[in-house]
Amino acid sequence: NSFRYDVVVVGGGPAGLSAAMTCARHGLSVILLERGRFAGAKNLFGGVVYTESVLSLAPDLFSEKRLPFERPVTEEGWWLLSEDGVVKITHTEKGLYEKPPRAYTAFRARFDPWLAQKAEEAGVLVIPKVKVLDLICANGKVSGVLVDRPRDWESSELAEVRAPVTIISEGVNRLLTQKAGLIPRDFTPEEVALSVKEVIQLPKGEVEKRFGLSEDEGLAVELLGEATLGFPGSGFLYTNTTSVSLGVGLFLSDFAEKGLKPYELLENLKKHPVMARLLSGGETLEYGAHLIPEWGLEGLPRLCGEGVMVVGDAAGLVNPLFREGTNLAIYSGIMAGKAAVFAHEKGDFGHETLKLYEEAFRESYIYRDLKYFRRLKKFLRENRSLFADYPEIINRVLHLYLSAQGRAKEEVFQEIFGLFRKRRGLTGLLRDFVKTFRFFK
Ligand code: FAD
Repeated sequence: NSFRYDVVVVGGGPAGLSAAMTCARHGLSVILLERGRFAGAKNLFGGVVYTESVLSLAPDLFSEKRLPFERPVTEEGWWLLSEDGVVKITHTEKGLYEKPPRAYTAFRARFDPWLAQKAEEAGVLVIPKVKVLDLICANGKVSGVLVDRPRDWESSELAEVRAPVTIISEGVNRLLTQKAGLIPRDFTPEEVALSVKEVIQLPKGEVEKRFGLSEDEGLAVELLGEATLGFPGSGFLYTNTTSVSLGVGLFLSDFAEKGLKPYELLENLKKHPVMARLLSGGETLEYGAHLIPEWGLEGLPRLCGEGVMVVGDAAGLVNPLFREGTNLAIYSGIMAGKAAVFAHEKGDFGHETLKLYEEAFRESYIYRDLKYFRRLKKFLRENRSLFADYPEIINRVLHLYLSAQGRAKEEVFQEIFGLFRKRRGLTGLLRDFVKTFRFFK
């Protein structure tokens, strides 16, 4: 009296959809359960998507009539905000105009449904509006899921979906991952960032005018300094076709400890003189907040168990320094999908077989990055001056240098050195440099 498939996937974000698609393309029967009204309905990201990861799922992407994106990213970098100014460090090059573009801006409410359609075309049964409540487990072995729907019209019992392989792609609220025994705890407030985002519609032609773009160009910048009130974290500003995605995020623990309110942080950013000018007359189309797991080996669960695997954000795979999240979700989904296919070929669904996924993961650049940046969170949290002092100092230095006319330059440089001495001191400067160098070494 239950539904049976070769693979059941929990969650219709990029990780789950990629895993499901990979399995279905190898002939497995796959059901994907998504609690939202449609795939992407509950999801939010900045968002920049790296094209290579999308091409690995949809090689014929560019034969599509309408791409699921907003603008190709042709200029990117950082804006360092002081209280009332900005230093823009952005980069563009010929290569960013070549086809295919390296990255696009996108909306999840469009990108995820497009991915879900690809999954359906591959044969995946995508079922929205169904929440998985629990895993069906016996003797440490997972054999499917229990959903929030009755078994049949007359029954008060909940329906079961059985499969020898369950792929958990539930995102950052990793409740099932814990139930599967893959990690004994939730993310701590120090391990996640809380990010708030608004999509602001600008009058026609204004995105191009205000950000110096043509119709097929896009800007994607991270905002540092005053954007986060000097706390470790960052904001972002990404241009869409006729709107701008503006957001800001901090460690959840900083919101709690400092009594900050997420919406106040975003309001503060919108009131920044430079932002206010760029966004004036804009209309808020969308507002949301979401947690982001922050990079770290300690947040990495066991990736597979008996009959079960975990992918994407649920495994903590977001590298904030490089804006990687969606692509890592896709890559991990593909790797887990391949392991599910292998397990079906072998007729064995135990950990020993599914660990093919874990092995592939450990050989991937993702795991190397996890190890390389293992101290990232600690480094960011312990070096607040990188967020609080340097954006302000750099703004002031440029102000002094660029408005030096009519003054003795010796005096101007004295003032610049005095500024560094006052804000960080010479030993502070040296310490920051050595720490940063050692972190990246
Ligand atoms: P999700 O996308 O979270 O999908 C999980 C899905 O599972 C959801 O659809 C959810 O509804 C469903 N679900 C959960 N529990 C259940 C259940 N019990 N039953 C049924 N369904 C369930 N990444 C980038 O690459 N570029 C960016 O610019 C970027 N910016 C970001 C900005 C913000 C503010 C945030 C929050 C994230 C950003 N990310 C970015 C990260 C990126 O969004 C994630 O890494 C990526 O979405 C992870 O995909 P996922 O499939 O693992 O999880």
